[in-house]
Amino acid sequence: MTAAPVKIDSVETILVDVPTIRPHRLSVATMNCQTLVLVRIRCADGIVGVGEGTTIGGLAYGEESPESIKINIDTYFAPLLKGRDVTRPGAAMANVRTLFQGNRFAKSALETALFDAHAQRLGVPLSELFGGRVRDSVEVAWTLASGDTQRDIDEAARVYEAKRHRIFKLKIGARALADDVAHVVAIGRALEGRGEVRVDVNQAWSETEAIWAARRFADAGVTLIEQPIAAHNRAGLKRLTDLAIVPIMADEALHGPADAFALASERAADVFAVKIAQSGGLAGASQVAAIAAAAHLDLYGGTMLEGAVGTMASAQLFSTFGELKWGTELFGPLLLTEEILTEPLRYENFALHLPDGPGLGIALDWDKIDRLRRATH
Ligand SMILES: [Mg+2]
Repeated sequence: MTAAPVKIDSVETILVDVPTIRPHRLSVATMNCQTLVLVRIRCADGIVGVGEGTTIGGLAYGEESPESIKINIDTYFAPLLKGRDVTRPGAAMANVRTLFQGNRFAKSALETALFDAHAQRLGVPLSELFGGRVRDSVEVAWTLASGDTQRDIDEAARVYEAKRHRIFKLKIGARALADDVAHVVAIGRALEGRGEVRVDVNQAWSETEAIWAARRFADAGVTLIEQPIAAHNRAGLKRLTDLAIVPIMADEALHGPADAFALASERAADVFAVKIAQSGGLAGASQVAAIAAAAHLDLYGGTMLEGAVGTMASAQLFSTFGELKWGTELFGPLLLTEEILTEPLRYENFALHLPDGPGLGIALDWDKIDRLRRATH
């Protein structure tokens, strides 16, 4: 039986500027505020779907900014989608992908909103659109990125004692190599027996720097090195992976299924950081995971430091992966000072727990969002 068509009434984009709880220092930018790009799709039957297309540090991390996502959706995507049948989200997204190049974050935000609405209409959690849950919660790592070694150690001890996180990802690459290595070794020593330490270099090193550091990290018990060198240097990433000093994770090198296929074919990484935005949406991220599984690569659920909407969309998908060996980093909402849900996401026992409700299973506090939204003309 085919469902009766339901039209899309409107597609709205909202920029929400939320301060972070502390400066978040990456090799590419220091964040004091995160701009959430929310998409709200209203359907003719009254159902409202939401999505998010948030970036890191404006244009510092990727080729889309919050402002470009908003204007491209408002100018191109929204007029195309308005009036279309929302009961066929796959057909709507196929049309979008045929007509518009790039814009992976914008496409991810729209696809999330379409799938949220679709799952709500079917009365099932979004995870059911991807085969159903393998797990009801996902482990969540915490990122230490204050820029100060002692402050990072204190922060790690605090969240470990609160049973929130036991995996710590250290953001490095902005300082001199030896200083970064000393910083990581000191934190690893301080957390020994209490937490696992991984590093994310965000492409900052040369290949020889990465090899030098990896040998020291192996001795210090660091379990994973994320994107140590430039994203486009796939051959270099393969050489680092082949050295097998510390497992290597591809992050910025992975922009969806085509990259996943190339990286997997060459065995240029041990682990994929799967991100819904980088993959151009939930369906693309699901394909990345399938390629990883077929190639016997491990998976890690990545974040663009999204707020609650993008975080829950990611969690719904990651909950369906057959294996999720390295857990996730879906801590974005915990980095923000403002809650935009009527009921916060549930972080307990080192994990994010998925709700049972239909769609994303979350309720947005629209009055609060209206107060926080950026005035745009
Ligand atoms: Mg990363």
